[in-house]
Amino acid sequence: MPPSSSPLKAVRGTRDLLPPETALWNRVETVARGVFARYGFGEIRTPIFEDTQLFARGVGEETDIVSKEMYTWEDRARAQSEKAQSLTLRPENTAGVVRAYIEHKLGERGELQKLFYIGPQFRRERPQRGRYRQFWQIGVEVLGPVSSGAESPVRDAEVLEMLATLLDELGIKDWRLELNSVGSSEDRKRYNAALREALAPVKDRMCEDNQRRAETNPLRVLDSKEPADQEIIDALPKIADFLDADSTAHFQAVRTALDACGVAYTVNPRLVRGLDYYTRTTFEFTVLDGQGLGTQNALLGGGRYDGLSEMLGGPKAPGIGFAIGEDRLILTLQAQDGREGVNAPHPEWMWAQKLDAYIAPMGVERNAAALALGRELRRAGLSVEVGDGSFRLKKSFEAADKVARHIIILGEDEVTTGTATVKTFATGEQAKVELAALRAHLKTI
Ligand code: AMP
Repeated sequence: MPPSSSPLKAVRGTRDLLPPETALWNRVETVARGVFARYGFGEIRTPIFEDTQLFARGVGEETDIVSKEMYTWEDRARAQSEKAQSLTLRPENTAGVVRAYIEHKLGERGELQKLFYIGPQFRRERPQRGRYRQFWQIGVEVLGPVSSGAESPVRDAEVLEMLATLLDELGIKDWRLELNSVGSSEDRKRYNAALREALAPVKDRMCEDNQRRAETNPLRVLDSKEPADQEIIDALPKIADFLDADSTAHFQAVRTALDACGVAYTVNPRLVRGLDYYTRTTFEFTVLDGQGLGTQNALLGGGRYDGLSEMLGGPKAPGIGFAIGEDRLILTLQAQDGREGVNAPHPEWMWAQKLDAYIAPMGVERNAAALALGRELRRAGLSVEVGDGSFRLKKSFEAADKVARHIIILGEDEVTTGTATVKTFATGEQAKVELAALRAHLKTI
């Protein structure tokens, strides 16, 4: 290959996550796993790419995701036994989880399935702050046969209450829960028809996007943030007036349970969400503007999808789930802490915990002994960095001070006498310590 003058970069809309920032990602995931475990969830890992049909059927052909944002390719057959097929990088994980539920006949186990996932998703969106083409979601799905209670409003309220707990434990401030019900698929059909009718005489006054949505998927008009169209949208019929008695009672029961738990929410009649599979409860958690997310202030979204399993050719399996945008969660935590960017770590979660020790071999002849001592200490549970014997003492001290609480100086003398000189940075104290007593000494501060 001819030499190229400009180095290659990560693809637009994707990014590298580097230490120490990745420590914050790990912390968030650890807290999430802990909360999910307390609510009885188990982890599921589905493939990153799936048959394109899964998303076309599960998410909906008319949605922005399927119509313009998917990374899809024709995968050629490599052997006679293989068929060429259209594959897609998953733009979301609910369809994959429900496919797995059907494929592994999880419904036949009888009980409620409570599953969580953490992983990357892919959408060809216009990149901006808080919106990427590869982004991470932390999500859960609760589904099962009707006899498992999967349709019960208790499940909706429990999922929402768990989210409130998770955001509180992560230390997210000022979150807001917006709640709505989009009814059964029958309710939505009637509502869609009413919307179409109401939009017909006014849609010409709306932006181009909304004119198109008014034709293809009128519900999506309610999602529009176009300022000039807001007055028209606010005057459109409300979904609440189209819910049948069952959906109304279900929504009321969810609200009563949330009230009993003390989880605050606002009913937002315009919250219909972008994916076709939602039925009944839909929700979003947002943070106030100016908390790191700019206009992308939705931290997470979710809802009930009672007909999805059947849409994918499976048995009846009502369910509810959500997906948290992990990138946005991290941006919010950093902004709320007033410390943004890779070089401004969160004080408690990052490497504020310094390593126990830095071993500085004096001269390259001591390198092997330093590594052996490092091995011993590390196997005893200490965190250790091993320097290099070619460094001058001053350079070793500077390197050690940055990453560790103690420096262990290993010279010829020390190696022959089975001791090491240890300096503790916090106190300036220096001592000769027997190697056997080193571990205890390092743990004193
Ligand atoms: P959705 O799967 O569209 O319901 O989105 C659920 C959550 O995922 C949103 O509330 C966002 O926090 C996050 N999210 C969706 N799309 C993106 C994206 N392109 N970049 C970053 N986060 C996203």
